[in-house]
Amino acid sequence: MRAGPSQEEIRRHNLGALLRHVHLGGPTSRAELTSRMGLNRSTIMALTADLTAAGLVREELPRETGRAGRPSLVVRPESARVYVFALDVGVDRLVAARVGLGGTILDRRETVRPRGPFSLDEIVGPLAGFARQMHRRTRPDTVCVGVAAAFSGGVGRGDGIIRFGPNMGSTDVPFAEEMTRRLALGLPVKVGNDANLAALAEHTRGVGVGCRDLIYLHGDVGIGGGVIVNGQLLGGHQGFGGEVGHMVVNPRGRPCGCGSLGCLEAEAGERAVLETAGRLGPEMGRDAVRAVVDAADRGDVVAQAALSRVGDWLGLGVANLVNIFNPEMVIFGGMLREVYLGSAAQVRSRVAVDALPPSRGALRLRTSALGDDATLVGAAELAFAQVLADPLDVLVRAGS
Ligand SMILES: [Zn+2]
Repeated sequence: MRAGPSQEEIRRHNLGALLRHVHLGGPTSRAELTSRMGLNRSTIMALTADLTAAGLVREELPRETGRAGRPSLVVRPESARVYVFALDVGVDRLVAARVGLGGTILDRRETVRPRGPFSLDEIVGPLAGFARQMHRRTRPDTVCVGVAAAFSGGVGRGDGIIRFGPNMGSTDVPFAEEMTRRLALGLPVKVGNDANLAALAEHTRGVGVGCRDLIYLHGDVGIGGGVIVNGQLLGGHQGFGGEVGHMVVNPRGRPCGCGSLGCLEAEAGERAVLETAGRLGPEMGRDAVRAVVDAADRGDVVAQAALSRVGDWLGLGVANLVNIFNPEMVIFGGMLREVYLGSAAQVRSRVAVDALPPSRGALRLRTSALGDDATLVGAAELAFAQVLADPLDVLVRAGS
């Protein structure tokens, strides 16, 4: 028979849980933590003392409470002292940010990335440069507790190798390894698929807070996705799960970059929107898609017809996902935010026809709350995962 968790294991678990509360919820009173965590006051006090001693949180008297009696101390994350680096490798931009505990973006750098084939160095070089610039500007008493990147490509579970992605000349790009070497911060760089991380970001900090089952659809040059089931990201056997963009919705449809025909991203992705609207040209990207939606709003019938057609395919994809996963919410992010806003009626009517009535009854269709930062916020949360799992252990290692 296996023994139950030791006192020490319970303490570590509780330290992580308390830190997660203030990281996601912001400054919280001891009294509130006591009730939310279901622990007694003396335990909360001891846990807070440990986290304060480690420099992860700080306790303060609250500002005006408006209530009589002794006010409960407020526990707030040490946002300026404890931070991570979050990186975002998008199809047409590279972003690096220094994000404080609690989710505050303290500093950020961004550059445009040309679409087309790339070498690993063209991505790693600028990001490492940004991180070094930001690192130089930190105070000596600050501590970096993690680094993570969102990558627009398929990332193998645990190894940080990019297995496939748009414009990738070669496969199996050892991004995490090279990024770790170039940053030389003594911290391994973690990598996740951008749409997967954006799904987690919307789940923890965005429109999907409180939703245990949701699907996030992310549009850039293609369509990626993240499926959250019972609060957990669905990764599949090797971590490539959630590639909803390659769900075939039209077997005799447009050719897809993956070699198949009529995938959701071939029928409802950026290229399909622009081509159907007769606007395929050198100007691609979010602005070009937005221009189609704007034109439709102004009464351009060609743009309206294009959005209606694309919305029909998008709705069909959503209906299939709803039937399989029965999500509480489907979130449209990236370029799909614009597409959905321009074709919501079409998407809804397709879902009404093709999704099973019990599953669609309580379904909510929403747009991303974090917008263009969803992937970056997701990367930051991945970088914070370790310190939230075992706060004191990570801090000892980061300080050594
Ligand atoms: Zn495909």
